[in-house]
Amino acid sequence: TQETAAAAAPTVAQPSFLTVTEVKVNVSMPEAAKKASETGADGVGLLRTEHMMLTTGVHPKKFIREGKEDELIKVLVENILKVADAFYPKTVWYRTLDAPTDEFQSLEGGEDEPYEHNPMLGWRGIRRELDEPEILKAEFRAIKKLHEQGYTNIGIMLPLVQHPDELRKAKEIAESVGLKPQKDIEFGMMVETPAAALTIEDFIAEGIDFVSFGTNDLTQYTLAIDRNNENVAGLYSERHPAVLKLISRVIKECNKAGVKTSICGQAGSMPDIVEKLVELGITSVSANTDAVPTVREVVARVEKKLLLKAARKLVQE
Ligand code: PEP
Ligand code: MG
Repeated sequence: TQETAAAAAPTVAQPSFLTVTEVKVNVSMPEAAKKASETGADGVGLLRTEHMMLTTGVHPKKFIREGKEDELIKVLVENILKVADAFYPKTVWYRTLDAPTDEFQSLEGGEDEPYEHNPMLGWRGIRRELDEPEILKAEFRAIKKLHEQGYTNIGIMLPLVQHPDELRKAKEIAESVGLKPQKDIEFGMMVETPAAALTIEDFIAEGIDFVSFGTNDLTQYTLAIDRNNENVAGLYSERHPAVLKLISRVIKECNKAGVKTSICGQAGSMPDIVEKLVELGITSVSANTDAVPTVREVVARVEKKLLLKAARKLVQE
């Protein structure tokens, strides 16, 4: 029940600065949720699923193949609960599985993962989940269970989306297990492909509550630089004008439509980029646990500057 979830809510440190732009935190390991919540962050802007799956030692598709969907759901519920509970009633955006073939090969049952020349451009993220909908269904069922227990603070975020059809299909799958996207659950997507950034209007038309910039991927796809390739690492930069231009257009379009914007890539922990994003009017920034206090300070400072500028303009008019 709602009461159970509320009773479980821990008391956390209050942020030292009041900010309008929310400062959230990224969580990759549910065991680290408590520490992350103690930063006083305004929620979880990215809860990754990959670690939850890797620690089982078993490929999620093996659970499905062997008719053990319930076991898979149990693993997910236990892990997501740790985070939803530590942050309750603050929002936790659960990102559905983003499993690159090369990283999931070593798991039991992952022996037949296809070999890909470019795993980063390959079968991962939402495109893979739509091909293996039983895994996505298990994730949605886990979230539905938690919702029924009162953890209504969980939202869903889709990775690596490049076409609105993917969004539509994922919503249909959510509906097929009894979740109502944008009605009883927040539903959003990552902006990680230039395609999504350049056509964000079409995704907005399809219906989303929020977007979050996955700048680790958005940078690699915009600059055509494999984020795991040391030979080209020197050219990799989130500060490239092309990346910032894409981000800027998305924030503009989303603000027009009342869609929330956030960032959960590494760039969300970089003060100079955070400064630009706040100036552009981003709704929230999600940083690594260690970076939350600094990011909060930067956000507060930039907001104060913007406020004083606006006030001065008013006085001069
Ligand atoms: C990103 O791409 O910026 C992101 C946050 O996702 P991941 O690093 O898990 O690919
Ligand atoms: Mg990514």
